[in-house]
Amino acid sequence: MVQSLSHTSLPDLAVEAQSLVKVYRGRNGEKRALDGISLAIPRGSFFGLLGPNGAGKSTLINILAGLVLKTSGQVRIWNRDLDEDGRGAKAAIGVVPQELNLDPFFTPRELLDVQAGMYGVPKSERRTMEILEAVGLADKAGAYARTLSGGMRRRLLVAKAMVHAPPVLVLDEPTAGVDIELRQQLWAYVRQLNASGTTILLTTHYLEEAQELCDRIAIINHGKLVACDSTPNLLARIDGKAVTVTLSADLAEIPPALAAFGPERLDARRLLLRYRPSTTPIGIILDAFAASGLTITDLSTEETDLEDIFLQLTSSR
Ligand code: ADP
Ligand code: MG
Repeated sequence: MVQSLSHTSLPDLAVEAQSLVKVYRGRNGEKRALDGISLAIPRGSFFGLLGPNGAGKSTLINILAGLVLKTSGQVRIWNRDLDEDGRGAKAAIGVVPQELNLDPFFTPRELLDVQAGMYGVPKSERRTMEILEAVGLADKAGAYARTLSGGMRRRLLVAKAMVHAPPVLVLDEPTAGVDIELRQQLWAYVRQLNASGTTILLTTHYLEEAQELCDRIAIINHGKLVACDSTPNLLARIDGKAVTVTLSADLAEIPPALAAFGPERLDARRLLLRYRPSTTPIGIILDAFAASGLTITDLSTEETDLEDIFLQLTSSR
């Protein structure tokens, strides 16, 4: 959290990446996992990183956290250059990794104490029980990690990442294998951290979750940035809408004037129409209903979700 850092030095950007390239070299040749990614994450934001499997999300996150070496490019965490001040940069970021790897013979309390020691957090400033409580693991403080469920392990990893109170918290697909109730609990805690000033960077496959949680979203595919915008702007950029029309009477067959819009029959009185607002104003569709002698009793439009945006932005590449 930011309290421990001088207020005069608060940066506008929590994270900056410039022209990041990562080439993995292995026996099977080279893999260009990141192909020139530039990204700016404003301080205090709840930032979502979306992309299909293999897009480069974990690679990007692990480079930011100093866990994977970049091939080229620049990274600044909390205004500290990763190459010039690696220790300072790493101290400002905490990572919840994608894999649930925990030493099975450590208890949550021991794990957090060891982690605090590694980051040089003095005993007097350790908040082990407070953190365990926040993630709902206080009653498991003395239990071996191997006895914890998947959801508990995930929350323990969040606790571990928060031990040194970093101003930037990174979560790599944290809800995989976590049931709905625990997911809600995890998000409540992360939201609370964000509300108290922690910048959150999250990768997820649950697009609705990103839409619900994140104020800014970046989409990457094949190691390239496809889009990066505020969530409302990103949602507005998609040119596709759907409208459900309820009629006053059952419809025996689709009138010719409506057929051109490719309506989908939901039931005898309801039709779903998908259209592009830029080329087909809703008025044209309503006129076609009127011309067919149909009376509309109800009309509801669907919000476009991230899945549509994602498909639209990545399919052309
Ligand atoms: P994501 O997290 O978006 O699923 P990753 O960053 O894990 O993507 O992987 C990006 C690409 O880099 C994938 O093609 C993956 O196979 C490859 N990759 C990841 N880690 C390594 C590695 N250690 N060695 C070689 N290739 C890797
Ligand atoms: Mg990953």
